[in-house]
Amino acid sequence: MTEFSVRIKALGCRTNLYEADAIASAFTRAGCRITEGNDWDAAVLVSCSVTAEADRKSRQIVRRFRRASPEGLVVATGCWAQGISYDEAKALGVDLLVGNRRKDEVVPLVMETLRGGVPHGVMETVATSSRWESLFLDRPSLTTRAFLKVQDGCDHFCSYCIIPFLRGKPVSRPLDDLEREVRSVVESGCPEIVLTGVHLGLYGREGGPGLADLLRAVGAIDGVKRIRFGSLEPFSVGDDLLDAMAEIESFCPHLHLPLQSGDDRVLNAMGRGHTADEYLSLLDRIKSAMGEDVHISTDILVGFPGEDDLAFANTLSVLELGGIGRIHSFPYSPRKGTKAASLPDRPPKSIAEERCKTVIEKGRELLDRYVSRWVGKEELLLIEEVSEGRVSGYTPHFIRLSALGCGKVDGIVRCRIADMVDGELRGEVISP
Ligand code: SF4
Repeated sequence: MTEFSVRIKALGCRTNLYEADAIASAFTRAGCRITEGNDWDAAVLVSCSVTAEADRKSRQIVRRFRRASPEGLVVATGCWAQGISYDEAKALGVDLLVGNRRKDEVVPLVMETLRGGVPHGVMETVATSSRWESLFLDRPSLTTRAFLKVQDGCDHFCSYCIIPFLRGKPVSRPLDDLEREVRSVVESGCPEIVLTGVHLGLYGREGGPGLADLLRAVGAIDGVKRIRFGSLEPFSVGDDLLDAMAEIESFCPHLHLPLQSGDDRVLNAMGRGHTADEYLSLLDRIKSAMGEDVHISTDILVGFPGEDDLAFANTLSVLELGGIGRIHSFPYSPRKGTKAASLPDRPPKSIAEERCKTVIEKGRELLDRYVSRWVGKEELLLIEEVSEGRVSGYTPHFIRLSALGCGKVDGIVRCRIADMVDGELRGEVISP
């Protein structure tokens, strides 16, 4: 029997999406119903704090929950929740504040409170915690792709980034626990696994199996048709990992490697731990291991303190030289408590916005150039949607493809590519 209705909302990164999905799985196991409407007994926000804008959105969603149901139980967890005080949470209408590393306690705390207990949140200092929160996803909310968290925390402390303060020190998921989850997700019918983490490249640094071992283990599980990585920091890609990515057939030839800036002076001020040339050499190593067609996507942070016209031009040049495909660009926003917040020479907001637009424009041009190499060739499509005589989804290189023909969601079909429009491929199904 359904005991309570619960609404769950995630903001931010893929790690948050996993956590929200896994919390939903735990509520379902506890006999609750997940709702998208306002008919909830409890609403849970898995919040984000990566930018000031993410903080604002987190506050806004909490207020919306409160307005939608003055009597309902409002729960906040995730990075923004980790950074606020109980008093601030209470003033915004949060009943339960649950810290990072404690999200596996959301369900018991909510059940206890809804059954008449007094709300009491749990927080801890993530900086010293080695706890792996034992979340477990039975089935993902997307039917074709599951984001699975294998790592949490970061101690790299890039000078602009608030995340190490909120996610705490690096911890890795036990491999056998992940293998059980992969099997469960595959049995639910999901063919594609995306391994995610706050700083994925740190997987296994505390000892035990590393990311290459983990990839080989997941690659050996029956029914996993595609494996991808979430974002991977460029300074964490070693030869063993490159070998594993090249040798595992189901590993898709697409890597998201955040560059942030292509200027050495700015990279140094950001504390990224690599130069522009080192980034480009890494791309060469990746291309020799995985083939010239590997898709490299990236993030660019514009308007960082000290970024002058020359530094910005260097960034555009590295994007061009690297043969990058998809690009995400964000204007820098100072985060209180980070080293960069006190750095001088921050470009004016108008210039940062202008540069952001320029990078987005450059991104469109580079993506078109990258994607057009498939016109006239054949590609495999994992079908995510079927509609009006067309099937659509993504190729192994993570390019969107829409093709005339039929097939079933979750199936993989071979397509001939006829055309490219706005960074997306068009074609027809030639064999099931
Ligand atoms: S590697 Fe840098 S950008 Fe990524 S989470 Fe750690 S500090 Fe933040």
